[in-house]
Amino acid sequence: MSKTLSVVLPCFNEAEVIGKTFERLVSALEKVALSEGLKYQLVFVNDGSKDSTLAQLHALAKSGTFQNGVVDIISLSRNFGHQLALTAGLRFAIGDGIISIDADLQDPPEVIHEMVRLWLGGADVVYAVRKERPGETAFKLWTASLFYKALSRFTETDIPKNTGDFRLMSRRVLDIFNAMPERHRFIRGLIPWIGFKQIPYEYDRDERAAGETKYPFKRMLKLAIDAFTSFSHVPLKIAYYTGLTFALLSFVFAGWVVVSHFLLHSTVPGWSSLMVAVLVLGSLNLLVLGIHGEYIGRIYDQSKGRPIYLVDFEASRIHELPHLK
Ligand code: UDP
Ligand code: MG
Repeated sequence: MSKTLSVVLPCFNEAEVIGKTFERLVSALEKVALSEGLKYQLVFVNDGSKDSTLAQLHALAKSGTFQNGVVDIISLSRNFGHQLALTAGLRFAIGDGIISIDADLQDPPEVIHEMVRLWLGGADVVYAVRKERPGETAFKLWTASLFYKALSRFTETDIPKNTGDFRLMSRRVLDIFNAMPERHRFIRGLIPWIGFKQIPYEYDRDERAAGETKYPFKRMLKLAIDAFTSFSHVPLKIAYYTGLTFALLSFVFAGWVVVSHFLLHSTVPGWSSLMVAVLVLGSLNLLVLGIHGEYIGRIYDQSKGRPIYLVDFEASRIHELPHLK
């Protein structure tokens, strides 16, 4: 039986570009379908667009320019943001291999063919890595590079830099992803966290074909905060480490206060006892906060509900294989 490839596109106010995207995507996918013997499913997610995106999608779906595929449209009740729109679309994907791609033609659909070949060759995840990024501001490139540096320093999951949400994943990876109940989703962290055979595929990222970015600074900041808080406990540990450092420092300082009070007699009355009390209580406060942070971190981990391990293959099955033949 031939395999099916699903392609999921979140769309928010993409009226200016959606027709072009549809055309290029369908012609690329028809080629892939013919040469690899695949069927395909297109899943467009309308993320609460205020323009004619949805109406255009309905018209395009009826146009029948696609021979080897079907077109599904999901329309969310309001704008939920890129990561959640993509999550919604991925739940509707029925394919054996599933691609997520932006709707603005920054990720060229022609690249899909090579990604599909890598998947058919046994990869579980093929993630597209950006070589060139024309049309993006120096500010965006700089903040992005800073962000990925900090992320790799403070998190245990290896999150590849220069990647976005243009990737292909196998059914088993998507099934695990779909089963993750996390609300704040940083998808480009969750997929590497899942593991299995993940390989990069380098491509040149194009400029947006039309329209403007739906990721203003405020949204980028939100994504960055989601990334840090869902993959790192460092922010929670800050109180702990500051508390510990201050406790040590104030211990030394309190010693000096005692010495200057009893031996040097160089203090104003009341100063010594006040200083010691402030130092000890201050650092104790931070330490206790830090301990709470450790527990909250653990509660948070538990409540994220991620599986605690994932099995690649079962050894017993390997022994069984010769008998099955
Ligand atoms: N997008 C979305 N909902 C949003 C914002 C963006 O579905 O609230 C979609 C958008 O239509 C596009 C993709 O997410 O297909 C990436 O957005 P954009 O191209 O604006 O981001 P950039 O490439 O500038 O980072
Ligand atoms: Mg874009």
